[in-house]
Amino acid sequence: MQYFPIFLSLTGRRVLVVGDGEAATRKADALRRADAMVATAARFDTALLDDCALAIGADAPDADLEALSAAAQARGIPVNIVDRPALCSYITPSVIDRAPISIAVSSGGAAPVLARLLRARIEAMVPPAFGRLAALADRYKEEIRSRLPDVAQRRRVLERALGGRVADLVLAGEDAAADLELRREIEGGADPAGIVYLVGGGPGAADLLTIRAQRLLGEADVIVHDRLVTTEVLDMARRDADRIEVGKSRAAHSMPQEEINALLVRLGLSGKKVVRLKGGDPLVFGRGGEEAEALAAAGVAFEIVPGVTAALACAAGAAIPLTHRDAARTLTLATGHLVGGALDLDFAVLAQGGTLAVYMGLDSLPALRDGLLAAGLDAGTPAALIERGGRADQRMLRGTLDELVLQAPGWSTGGPTLTMVGPAVGLQVVRR
Ligand code: SAH
Repeated sequence: MQYFPIFLSLTGRRVLVVGDGEAATRKADALRRADAMVATAARFDTALLDDCALAIGADAPDADLEALSAAAQARGIPVNIVDRPALCSYITPSVIDRAPISIAVSSGGAAPVLARLLRARIEAMVPPAFGRLAALADRYKEEIRSRLPDVAQRRRVLERALGGRVADLVLAGEDAAADLELRREIEGGADPAGIVYLVGGGPGAADLLTIRAQRLLGEADVIVHDRLVTTEVLDMARRDADRIEVGKSRAAHSMPQEEINALLVRLGLSGKKVVRLKGGDPLVFGRGGEEAEALAAAGVAFEIVPGVTAALACAAGAAIPLTHRDAARTLTLATGHLVGGALDLDFAVLAQGGTLAVYMGLDSLPALRDGLLAAGLDAGTPAALIERGGRADQRMLRGTLDELVLQAPGWSTGGPTLTMVGPAVGLQVVRR
């Protein structure tokens, strides 16, 4: 490590800024935000350094900047001359301000652009609400210390609160509820309260996860996932989290839903932080509602985190508008799951236009065509099959429903496939 990072307290301390350009003004403003007493001067004079805790130079004549650097270093005052590394005794990092939390990033001058990219990533991972979370913990600091004198116990309670429900509530903007929850956790002491997060894993590309899903995957004790969830997404999870695959691929339900519900309840009651990870969105043909009901009935806390559902991922990947001012005023998400060998959909309504996205619809494609055409849908209506939508290996087959019925068996390679039908499907925007 070439530089040793510290956070300097400048409250009420005198700080000298030499120079009168834009960079000097920016530095002076930042220092004032840290409660420093800022003295500014266009030109350098040695006496200006008296009683200074820090000195900065920018936009001043070279001779002044060099004199400032030499004089400050002779007196042991940390000095930074903007864009002149050779004259600096310290460098300023790129800062993410989530007061009272600050995060500083530096490449030590090796790759400032990389440091900036990194900073943008961290910024996305640490939403502004983290500042409020830290402030909340600060408010309860004394009470926590007196109620939980044991250090290890205190740490367990705080880790659970700040990494779990209290954090979620603050991030969701429910600060009053977060306050109550933190109070409850402190008063409850160390007995663990489990929680189950029903999390949408999106269409399979790791970077289509939400930031919240990614954070929870990094914190979970146990991950209970479907087969639809890709390795790429599972790789985002904490390395030492237990993983339980509960199946669910077409026609091969490896664990009945009641058993999945019971498993989630058991894990929640045992005090675990559980992520129930589902493909797409948990509430779109994912039986997330049933799992939430089972958890609620058993008194286990749960939260639902949305995900990018297949219809949205497929449409975006294929550049097909789902709604369109001229061509589609409604969007229907339907299941192609056959009930007693029949496709139980309201074809009269679906044939009236709009865009139809059929999940789990490959086997029932002929029944879909028959139902829609019998209800009056124009046989020339554009349709498409999209396999592995939203992933790098997305594939698409376009045509009329008749054409798709004929070609689908030879075309499919067995990946999850969505059927889209409607005038807007013909409005695919072709990339040049
Ligand atoms: N909860 C999921 C849907 C689960 S049902 C969601 O919101 O997306 C499973 C069906 O979803 C599959 O049979 C397929 O029709 C569809 N599906 C899921 N992921 C898909 C993908 N990446 N591309 C195309 N279809 C997908």
